[in-house]
Amino acid sequence: MKKYLTCILCPMGCSLEIEGEQTDCCFEVSSVKGNSCNRGIEYAKKELTAPTRTLTTTIAVTGSSIKLVPVKTAEEIPKDMLLTAMEVIRRAKCSAPVKCGDVLIFDLLGTGVRVVACADAPPLFPC
Ligand code: SF4
Repeated sequence: MKKYLTCILCPMGCSLEIEGEQTDCCFEVSSVKGNSCNRGIEYAKKELTAPTRTLTTTIAVTGSSIKLVPVKTAEEIPKDMLLTAMEVIRRAKCSAPVKCGDVLIFDLLGTGVRVVACADAPPLFPC
C-alpha cells in the first residue's frame, strides 16, 4: 500500500511516497521515497504512526491593555489532542503582568507539556 505526504519540516516541502502495510494499530513503513534528507524518513514514520504538532494560539489576559497573549506548547502534543487542548486553553485566563516565556499552563491534559507565553502582556498600571 502506498501513501503520499508532503514533508513540512523545512521550506523544501518534499513530496514523499511511502510504502508499507496498514496493521490493526498503525501503518508500518517499509520504504520512503522523494525525501531530500533523512529527516523526511523520520517525519513520514512519525506522521503515519504517532503524529504530533506544536499548538499555537492565545490565552485571555486580565489587567492588561492586551486582551489576548499569544502562546504555544513548549513541546509537540499528539495531533488527536489538538481540539481538546484548544478547548482547555480557550477557557484559561491569566493575569498581567505576563512576560514572554512565562509558563501559563504547566501540564496540558496530563501530557506534561507546558504552554508558554510568546509575548509580554504589561499591566494596565505599572508599579
Ligand atoms: S525531506 Fe528533508 S529537505 Fe525535504 S522537506 Fe523534509 S526536511 Fe526538508
